[in-house]
Amino acid sequence: MNAKSGAPRRAEIAGAGIGGLTTAAALAQRGWSVAVHERAPTLRTFGAGIYIWSNGLRVLKALGALEQATVGAHIGPQFHTRDHINTTMEEIPINGDGDARLVTILREQLIGTLVDTCRKAGVEIITNSEAVAATPDGELLLADGSRRRADLVVGADGINSKVRDSLDLMMYRKHLGYGAIRMLISRDDADVPAEDRERYIEYFTGTRRILYTPASARDLYVALCCAADDIDALKVPADRNLWTASFPHLAHLVSRLGDTGRWDAFEVVKLKAWSKGKVAILGDAAHAMPPYLGQGGGCALMNGLALAAAVDGAPDVAQALVEWEDRERPITEHTQDTAERLGDMNFWPDDVRSQVMKITGKCAEIGMERMKTARYAPTATEPV
Ligand SMILES: Cc1cc2nc3c(=O)[nH]c(=O)nc-3n(C[C@H](O)[C@H](O)[C@H](O)COP(=O)(O)OP(=O)(O)OC[C@H]3O[C@@H](n4cnc5c(N)ncnc54)[C@H](O)[C@@H]3O)c2cc1C
Repeated sequence: MNAKSGAPRRAEIAGAGIGGLTTAAALAQRGWSVAVHERAPTLRTFGAGIYIWSNGLRVLKALGALEQATVGAHIGPQFHTRDHINTTMEEIPINGDGDARLVTILREQLIGTLVDTCRKAGVEIITNSEAVAATPDGELLLADGSRRRADLVVGADGINSKVRDSLDLMMYRKHLGYGAIRMLISRDDADVPAEDRERYIEYFTGTRRILYTPASARDLYVALCCAADDIDALKVPADRNLWTASFPHLAHLVSRLGDTGRWDAFEVVKLKAWSKGKVAILGDAAHAMPPYLGQGGGCALMNGLALAAAVDGAPDVAQALVEWEDRERPITEHTQDTAERLGDMNFWPDDVRSQVMKITGKCAEIGMERMKTARYAPTATEPV
């Protein structure tokens, strides 16, 4: 509530991705009046799967969205990494007693669930509405020339955030020279041996990787990962001969790859500050990271919910945003830095990588460090 007028406090949010929708739902559930501006004409997302670890599941639970988000989800028994001759380098236990939980679902399902959760809480979602800037005193400026005043403005408009850049918040944006083509295909029993079918598996050869991810009973999410200057490998449609030559043990799977797919380069974004006055920045706009831990969306979920909890009832929104950053930024930066380091091994010789990962895979401390975000208890959540 606004202390003077008694009216609900108002938030204007740029971007209807994971970060923007989570923040919107969490604010509206706390009595805020919320509008989300999405530049695209629809709220549909592209065809791919997404890994959601325990920390993200806790946020979905706190939003009342867990059940819908995980209908038909795949719950794998382990995560394996395999070397160039398909021997197991690491076996990461998941979903057992005491392990971090991990589910995979379709991105479409996650976004659809968050949209439904927003609508149930009374959020207004406006498509074809592009944000171009914000002012620290709480105005969101739109491409149609209108200005929307609010108690809180959120820039959750992705890695190329115009809201962030209008406030001169960028500390650095680093291109990691690597990326992935993502696609969804149907599952087929002949792709991998029977004992591997339900697992999540990342296969390495040279500087290329293939990520095998069942994402439902029917859907297989495949990511073809390569260096950004591996021009032939990053072509869409994927060059089946090239990928089969690198991964002969996956010839059946590669032969079935469709003609579609989306290439994304991996980047890291760090900001001088996550807020300026009444404007907060979150998600990839504030803390993009490479996807080796499957936690970019997880951090967007955590920071969106934590933001709503931080400003809820706070007498001074700008001060609450500073405190929000102080509390949440360390775990996000740990996640970014750990993920970035994991990318180093893309460029190691096969034999070296295989030997090192077989050793590190057995080291409990390294495992705990990698799983720190998955095991983290996000602000305003309870265990699932
Ligand atoms: C290959 C790959 C695999 C990944 N796998 C995982 C995974 O398994 N698990 C995981 O947790 N994370 C994963 N991630 C990371 C995750 O996808 C992102 O961190 C997450 O989508 C960020 O959400 P966001 O809402 O911040 O940004 P986005 O998803 O980029 O959403 C931003 C939204 O804002 C809209 N927009 C953009 N500009 C404007 C504007 N000016 N005005 C209004 N709207 C605008 C966009 O259309 C979009 O809808 C992966 C990333 C990559 C590249």
